[in-house]
Amino acid sequence: MVILKGKGIGENISFGTLFINKKIFDNIPKYFYENLELEKSRLEKALDSAIKENLDMYKKTLEIGGKADAEIFEVHNMMIKDNDYKLSILSIIENEKYNCEYAVYKASKKFHEMFLNLEDEYMRNRAADVKDICFSILKYLKSETDEKKKESQIDSKAIVFSDDLMPSEVSNADKNLISGYVLSGGSDCSHAAILARLSNIPMVVGVGDHIKPEYEGMDVAIDSGEGKVYISPDTDTVKMLQKKEKLYSKKHEALDNLKGKENITLDGYKVNIYANINNDHQMDEVLKSDADGIGLFRSEFLYLNRNSYPDEEEQFETYKKIVERMGGNKVVIRTLDIGSDKSEKYFEFPEETNPAMGYRGVRVCLDRPEILITQLRAIYRASNYGNISIMFPMIISEKEVKALKDIAAKVRRDLKKENIPFSENVEIGIMVETPAAALISDILASEVDFFSIGTNDLTQYTLAIDRQNSKANQFFDSHHKAVLRMIKLIIDNAHKQGIWVGICGEIASDESLTEAFLAMGVDELSMPSSCILKIRKKVLETNVGKVKNKIFKKIF
Ligand code: PEP
Ligand code: MG
Repeated sequence: MVILKGKGIGENISFGTLFINKKIFDNIPKYFYENLELEKSRLEKALDSAIKENLDMYKKTLEIGGKADAEIFEVHNMMIKDNDYKLSILSIIENEKYNCEYAVYKASKKFHEMFLNLEDEYMRNRAADVKDICFSILKYLKSETDEKKKESQIDSKAIVFSDDLMPSEVSNADKNLISGYVLSGGSDCSHAAILARLSNIPMVVGVGDHIKPEYEGMDVAIDSGEGKVYISPDTDTVKMLQKKEKLYSKKHEALDNLKGKENITLDGYKVNIYANINNDHQMDEVLKSDADGIGLFRSEFLYLNRNSYPDEEEQFETYKKIVERMGGNKVVIRTLDIGSDKSEKYFEFPEETNPAMGYRGVRVCLDRPEILITQLRAIYRASNYGNISIMFPMIISEKEVKALKDIAAKVRRDLKKENIPFSENVEIGIMVETPAAALISDILASEVDFFSIGTNDLTQYTLAIDRQNSKANQFFDSHHKAVLRMIKLIIDNAHKQGIWVGICGEIASDESLTEAFLAMGVDELSMPSSCILKIRKKVLETNVGKVKNKIFKKIF
């Protein structure tokens, strides 16, 4: 028996026979054509067919999942129709005289590499989408596709091993044939992973290059909860996994039963559990997860992946859609946190040697107030349709907070003059995510209505470790006493001034810290929708009074 370890998607057990996915990108025909017009018309036909397939897939996914999951196929069609992409293929056909298949492959490879080299994780994940659209176009160019060959080779329940996977492969998977996926690479937030989660197909990503050709056809089992792959499992392991399978399904049923319940500890301490979102397409998941509100809308994602600023109207429509869907529950919109790892060419930022400590967040907004004013106008207008709070990121001083509040007050005065309705009850809060803000949180608390602790950046700046640096990742520790002590200090200072305080960094969904946060008196935890019920369960099982002393002894 061989055991491989990676990152699991979902909590499932699956048994099958190992099938090694031969890559469609092997053996791409490469030759100089004779008839230019023929190649161009082959390209047009293949593009049209790929677009049609994506449309079909969009409808199918919409039926089984929802808009959020189907959206990927809209994105793929946008990419296929993208002028730069098509021109790049045509230029290889026309100027280099290569055949259509090779031109599609070469142009896609260029775009794939370009996305892979982007710093932003969301954009880097789009590299898989480029591979996916290339795959679907090639499918229509090849007389006999590798895909068809593959399906015909699978004759029993298979666990498919692949370097990486296209979302379309997962979406098209015949569940009678495929019972799981194992990827040597991949990311747990890729669209292939999202679709696997939706279709309830177990997946383990990032197992490395450990699958040998001789494993093909062997029995294999996946425990996606543990991120483990067992090749040729022995009888005891099979029995152990069968038991675990039952445990997992009981656990899923139990979590679903928590929907509609209050987040209250055994000794009566209540906490709000909110969702983090990047765009309005994630609202289906938020509502499914039974979140009490939205604790962090990273609004900068509205500004990314485009060539110009979103105007007031476009932003207003998005904010309005979100607050309306939340039906009176709180929606905390963080103003533009652009810069560092998140930026676009049209912002025309200067080159920086240390962007995480550079021109970012409210520094940009205070320097170019017209950008913030447009956003605040849109947010205030949307406040007329629900319960909105405004939150400013990357604060380091009282002076900044006062300047930002002055801009917000001017926006409100202007809207009044223009007879544009907005709510008078919009809270103004700040992210506490720099050591400076943490240490003067007593002063800052008197300026605002709430704090939300951004533990991702707070850890980065407290420990002096770049959160983007994979080499330094082993030292990046959000459980560090210095970080936990700061969190306690921030919560105490907030409460002394009578304002509420939440946590919206990744550790808000870390079960091993829930007791500590409750003991510190946090009022809200904001996290990805998929983690909400898991944390609700932890809250319901906690007795703050019983664990408090032990936890504080550990931290102080
Ligand atoms: C944080 O820093 O913890 C946070 C929530 O903001 P972001 O991850 O977007 O920087
Ligand atoms: Mg941050």
